Amino acid sequence: MPTSQDDASPATTRQVWVPGPVIVGAGPSGIATAACLKSRGVPSLVLERDATVAPSWRDRTYERLRLHLPRSFCELPLAPPFPAGTPPYPTRDQFVAYLDAYARAFAVQPRLRARVRAAAYDAAIGFWRVAVVEGDETAETEFLSRWLVVATGENAEAAWPEGMVEMGIGGFRGEVMHTSGYKRGDEFAGKKVLVVGCGNSGMEVSLDLCDNGAATSMVVRDKLHVLPREILGISTFGLSVFLLKWFPIKWVDALLLFFSRLILGNIEKYGLRRPKIGPLQIKSSTGKTPVLDIGALKKIKNGEIKVVPAINCFTENGVEFVDGHREEFDAVIFATGYKSNVPSWLKEEELFSERDGLPRKAFPHSWRGKNGLYATGFTKRGLLGTSYDAAMIAADIAHRWSNALDDHHDQQQQR
Ligand SMILES: Cc1cc2nc3c(=O)[nH]c(=O)nc-3n(C[C@H](O)[C@H](O)[C@H](O)COP(=O)(O)OP(=O)(O)OC[C@H]3O[C@@H](n4cnc5c(N)ncnc54)[C@H](O)[C@@H]3O)c2cc1C
Repeated sequence: MPTSQDDASPATTRQVWVPGPVIVGAGPSGIATAACLKSRGVPSLVLERDATVAPSWRDRTYERLRLHLPRSFCELPLAPPFPAGTPPYPTRDQFVAYLDAYARAFAVQPRLRARVRAAAYDAAIGFWRVAVVEGDETAETEFLSRWLVVATGENAEAAWPEGMVEMGIGGFRGEVMHTSGYKRGDEFAGKKVLVVGCGNSGMEVSLDLCDNGAATSMVVRDKLHVLPREILGISTFGLSVFLLKWFPIKWVDALLLFFSRLILGNIEKYGLRRPKIGPLQIKSSTGKTPVLDIGALKKIKNGEIKVVPAINCFTENGVEFVDGHREEFDAVIFATGYKSNVPSWLKEEELFSERDGLPRKAFPHSWRGKNGLYATGFTKRGLLGTSYDAAMIAADIAHRWSNALDDHHDQQQQR
């Protein structure tokens, strides 16, 4: 639920009626939904708290990031493919350019620096009231719309591990950051850096640090699946999607693990314990993505990236691990993921869970709620999920939009 600070509304409030849907967020999900609506003749208003389209990719990622999945699985709906010559795994800048071109092609022009502070359905008038603070946040606008599309993403805010204060993070004198603020490894050259977390971001940041001359340790607390990014020259993701059309998930998992063992060897020797359940089954039940190795594993094997256990507490110059040994570090980087911010602004608890800010129902039933409320980009299926949501939402709203136009037309004629 919103904090009291979130609820404090600035002085002036003006009201604006929006004929089409309001879409909150101008990341890939927001602009894809706006484009699909436009293609069906429905105008929309896209609200974005930051100053650009797709700021999560542009401003909150590291420079060496590439799409984790092959580009063919990351294209937005109705768009031409990536330009000729784009590598199979586009760089961050290439993906940002693709998103900019997509927004331009569909003339999606979000209202920028417009942060949605609160949104609630007003049953008395049958409209969503969307309170937005803009620019210097001294004035507020209330937008009124029949339809509200939540596109603020599964990764809206950095997630920090619980209990850091109790563990003494305040007394640590080195640098502390989240991967959302990490840009490039050469800023850490010659330093001792501890990366907390071993998902795709943790592995990639560790690799980047290592490549740039930082002495890198990585905390591996939980069990995890590491898979090669490609098997026999085919992307592991593409191969899984293909095999799942023909075989049960357990068989596909068994095959992936067989090839992983063949290609990567026994990773348990290096402190990376595999869960008993297969990677695709875990992904489908919890949403947790397996790590697709792009080189970190080699560095772990040759000892350039040191695997260390969980942190017990922070010291002035480093940390004490749960096995009791202490080590000094110049910086600690938290690769501990992201979380949704929906509960901080949306006053609704049926479609979205207040606990984690994600839809209560899993894909493919997560996109529609009641009273004209929609969710896009919350499927735990990346941009493929976004494309599905955008198409479903646009079709649903377009249907209601044309009914509303017909009603309006009938009323005009009766007058
Ligand atoms: C490092 C990384 C790599 C990934 N690689 C891939 C990949 O290769 N393939 C793939 O399919 N998926 C990938 N994903 C997952 C996912 O596709 C991306 O996170 C994608 O950006 C999700 O798009 P989105 O629009 O749903 O969310 P976002 O891109 O996060 O966009 C949400 C937008 O909402 C805005 N916003 C939030 N709150 C408010 C508010 N209150 N008011 C106004 N605006 C607000 C934010 O500023 C943001 O611009 C990756 C994710 C990460 C973190």
